[in-house]
Amino acid sequence: MKIGVGWFSFTCCEDSTIVLIELMNDYFFKWNEFLEFKYFRTLKGKNDFTNLDIAFVEGAIANSKEKDFLLKIRENSKKLVAIGSCACTGSPANQRNFFDKATKEEIGHILIRFEHYDKVSPISDFVHVDDFIPGCPMDEKLFLKKLSVYLNEFGILNA
Ligand code: SF4
Repeated sequence: MKIGVGWFSFTCCEDSTIVLIELMNDYFFKWNEFLEFKYFRTLKGKNDFTNLDIAFVEGAIANSKEKDFLLKIRENSKKLVAIGSCACTGSPANQRNFFDKATKEEIGHILIRFEHYDKVSPISDFVHVDDFIPGCPMDEKLFLKKLSVYLNEFGILNA
């Protein structure tokens, strides 16, 4: 049995994705025994976000397109985990929330053109989040520890 996993990136610099890929140098073959990355666009061309056991979500939410996809991910995942500070708290991807009035006016046309929300928000503003792995980028030791706990929850022991 393999656990179906999705890795999703919203508004952010995607450094936790890089951390995960670096971890694969050490863990790819081990993980391959019990994890199926069903959605991971950095690795694969064909992706499927339906019927996931665990969805890992990095980045903050900046527009309705991202929010709508996040809602679909939630509907299709047994467990949803926020990855990195941007997903957990909105920061630092939400820097523009704190721009002064003049700077906000200066970027106003960009927000309109790309249909962005006035504010960038953490994912928990829109969906229930089962767990949080903070850090900028994510704390890799904590990720490995928590991944092992999640896999135990899904019946994979000694992962
Ligand atoms: S938490 Fe840090 S490393 Fe992760 S996406 Fe945000 S800015 Fe980048």
